[in-house]
Amino acid sequence: MNLEEKKKKLEEIAGKVAACKKCPLYKNATKAVPGEGNPNAEVMFIGEGPGYWEDQEGRPFVGQAGKLLDNLLQLIKLPRKKVFIANVVKHRPPGNRDPLPQEIKACREFLDGQIEIIDPKVIVTLGRFSLNKFLPGEFISKIHGKARFVEFAERKRIVIPMYHPAAALRNERIMEELKLDFQKIPKFLENFPSEERDKEENNNRQLSFL
Ligand code: URA
Repeated sequence: MNLEEKKKKLEEIAGKVAACKKCPLYKNATKAVPGEGNPNAEVMFIGEGPGYWEDQEGRPFVGQAGKLLDNLLQLIKLPRKKVFIANVVKHRPPGNRDPLPQEIKACREFLDGQIEIIDPKVIVTLGRFSLNKFLPGEFISKIHGKARFVEFAERKRIVIPMYHPAAALRNERIMEELKLDFQKIPKFLENFPSEERDKEENNNRQLSFL
């Protein structure tokens, strides 16, 4: 798919998100937050759901957690405009409560569609809801920073689970871990040529070259 086709398809999804009434979250939301970024991104970040400022602006990660995400991206010299940033749910859960299973399910087709279109090599999960989508039953405290191959939307992808930036803002130890984990992203991108994704033996193994 070329860039223009990708843009068009991502805009279609954003339009569907804005009109979505499949779960009640739209009722209290100001703006839908479909996600944004480079349609050809090699790295996709997936958070939990919009908070107050994201709901006001209709853009992902623009509040305090977003500022930290921007700083982390700067740390590894990865411009925000080169990546794609999305969430598991696309309307703000009231009072920033956890998204409910039926809300995550209602939003799934949008996020899955975005992943299929963008076709990222690396997916960085931010927080446990996003982790649970790709590696159900795993605990962030155990596997953060450890990359795995996961088959998703008919392609092998490197999934790197990470703590949510909001958790890092509340806890200094988590902040240090998150910074260390972020610094692994460029190595995964460099050391893993695209063809390696398609080799059968790589499926689901933990990547051990770091
Ligand atoms: N937290 C998230 O999980 N996503 C956002 O977009 C903002 C804060």
